[in-house]
Amino acid sequence: MIKISNVTKRFGKLSVLNDISLDVNQGEVISIIGPSGSGKSTLLRCLVNLEEIDQGLIEVQGKTGMVFQSFNLFPHKTVLENIIEAPIIVKKMKREDAIILAEELLIKVDLLDKKDSYPSQISGGQKQRVAIARALAMKPEILLFDEPTSALDPELVGEVLSVIKELAKDKMTLLIVTHEMGFAREVSDRVIFMDQGKIVADSDPEEFFTNPNNVRIRLFLNKILK
Ligand code: ADP
Ligand code: MG
Repeated sequence: MIKISNVTKRFGKLSVLNDISLDVNQGEVISIIGPSGSGKSTLLRCLVNLEEIDQGLIEVQGKTGMVFQSFNLFPHKTVLENIIEAPIIVKKMKREDAIILAEELLIKVDLLDKKDSYPSQISGGQKQRVAIARALAMKPEILLFDEPTSALDPELVGEVLSVIKELAKDKMTLLIVTHEMGFAREVSDRVIFMDQGKIVADSDPEEFFTNPNNVRIRLFLNKILK
């Protein structure tokens, strides 16, 4: 579904992605883990053409959506309007049809009762669930998440993770940058560990968490799990 071949991305002199190669199969759930500044967000941004790569090749089969840490909802639009916007404008969907689709998605993320609320009137966890519904409204085959729970109060993390778990159960292809190690261990088919612009490990989650074979991974896990 995704083929990343020898990709290099530089910002000025800094090589943020350094000869990265990665294949993602249909229906795979991949967690991307690693210290701040290791290039995780840049990798996702390159996949959706928010950044241009300097070298290598990225091939993506199918439409790709992205969910950001900061939700990025339109503040002056209601929950429902946030979701119908892209289907109407980009996909030229009829407003009535877009509303039906949006309501189905709001049921999926358990927020139908908030459809007429504005983003300022709902919690962070609810905002992120709206952002997920909004991404799904474009019917992507692949969904990318960049730290979807990092901006949330701890008690709101679970409701967002359970929506992502449902998508994983539906066999959607997912790439998730996350610091939620329990979640990564539970839902992923593979765990990718990035450090300094390189993929240091691409492993089975059980193996990754029980027997990390790399000193950088051990240091990272020790820090984050303590
Ligand atoms: P991560 O998501 O793993 O924390 P990022 O991909 O955001 O890492 O960033 C990797 C490196 O690239 C960091 O050193 C960051 O400062 C740098 N970087 C990211 N975006 C830009 C940009 N637009 N211009 C210059 N440097 C950037
Ligand atoms: Mg990041």
